[in-house]
Amino acid sequence: MTTSPREKNAPRDVNEAAIIAAKSDIASGKNSKKVFIKTYGCQMNVYDSERMADVLSPIGYAPTDAPDHADLVILNTCHIREKAAEKVYSELGRIRKYKETNKPDMKVAVAGCVAQAEGAEIMSRAPVVDMVLGPQTYHKLPEMIAKVHRGTGQLLETEFDTLEKFDELPELRQPKGFSSFLTIQEGCDKFCTFCVVPYTRGAEVSRSVAHVVAEARQLAAHGVREITLIGQNVNAYNGLGEDGKEWTLGQLIRHVALIGGIDRIRFTTSHPRDMDDDLIETLGNEPKLMPYLHLPIQAGSNKVLHAMNRGHTYAEYKELIAKIRAARPDIALSGDFIVGFPGETETDFQQTMKCVEEIGYGSSFSFKYSVRPGTPGAGLPRQVPEDEKQDRLVRLQALLYQQQQDFNKSLIGQTLSVLVEGVGRKDDQLFGRSPYLQGTHFDGPKDLVGQIVNVKITDAGRNSLVGELA
Ligand code: SF4
Repeated sequence: MTTSPREKNAPRDVNEAAIIAAKSDIASGKNSKKVFIKTYGCQMNVYDSERMADVLSPIGYAPTDAPDHADLVILNTCHIREKAAEKVYSELGRIRKYKETNKPDMKVAVAGCVAQAEGAEIMSRAPVVDMVLGPQTYHKLPEMIAKVHRGTGQLLETEFDTLEKFDELPELRQPKGFSSFLTIQEGCDKFCTFCVVPYTRGAEVSRSVAHVVAEARQLAAHGVREITLIGQNVNAYNGLGEDGKEWTLGQLIRHVALIGGIDRIRFTTSHPRDMDDDLIETLGNEPKLMPYLHLPIQAGSNKVLHAMNRGHTYAEYKELIAKIRAARPDIALSGDFIVGFPGETETDFQQTMKCVEEIGYGSSFSFKYSVRPGTPGAGLPRQVPEDEKQDRLVRLQALLYQQQQDFNKSLIGQTLSVLVEGVGRKDDQLFGRSPYLQGTHFDGPKDLVGQIVNVKITDAGRNSLVGELA
């Protein structure tokens, strides 16, 4: 069954009754319900899962790592990768068995982008699912849970209203560590021809500066030292500023940098078209901004970039990188690459290899193109055979991985600031993140956890660094 479109004007008593009942359970020590949330995909989903846990806490749910005995299981899905929906269905098969064997009253929800794209189909193919909710509706979880418990049947909520979601989320956040994501923008208007995001997350919407600052202050008050401002197109940020005007991402970063306790700021994911001069200047001048930029190009051939609807050429990207490096010479770049987009020839692929050689990346994400139903790329002629895509990916990754290894090795002998996130596997070993995001291991006392310390790098692999306290 589907809920009526937008229940904005519906009485709120269901939600409030559920919260009041749960609060009284908590007060009487009955706060024993468990929620298992499985997160697929990007950092936007990681953030959303944390916020779902925040929404559920006041109604008595505590997170658990054990799905088999959970009262509520939520799959927070991602539609970016191939066969995303099939993976969700096989996970749902496992959950159905847990439910039948251990926990007949278990409730099951599918959230995220697969839910948005295939909500009705999920409900008809997987009767075990009680609730399907899109990325803009998870603030309605308590209300939906109350309805499911009242036997209303399967519920589908896939409306787009990003700002309503942010307005209705609980203010109190429960960050897990010393580094936290903070969503400042959602959705995308770019319509790259390979990507489902504009269809699953909707148009670009930015949160107001006041909301972002309030959440950042909350995080700082809970001990968070590093904030990563996230959005599908984070540098398209244009939220309402404190002066009543639209602020850019550069303005927002400089403002967030004033918050006491926040010592490191990052932002991701950026689009080359939205990399304005103000942001580049901020990269150069704001010491709290880490020298690491994820700026995907996807392909080096102008023909392929055009077919992907990226809206820029390779020469424009290269010029942009030169500007960024002039402003922040120590910056490390990260990129996304897709090989085998429809129509990509070996000559086009060689342009991607040339791009990687010329630009140089400290880290990267690379994939074979795969069809996303409903995107323009799916209908394009001249799909590249699978074995050619595989061959290109192997060659590209050999180059990218070598660059990553070389970059990490170039840091040996340098002293880097490391945010200590926890203890390592060995006695007295600590683990943290460098300014360039590599995991860094070194020996030190446990009371350094949560501190930012200087570490002299003594060894480096492709994915991590080793050092000693400086
Ligand atoms: S910029 Fe392109 S790849 Fe990125 S979210 Fe938007 S449509 Fe997808």
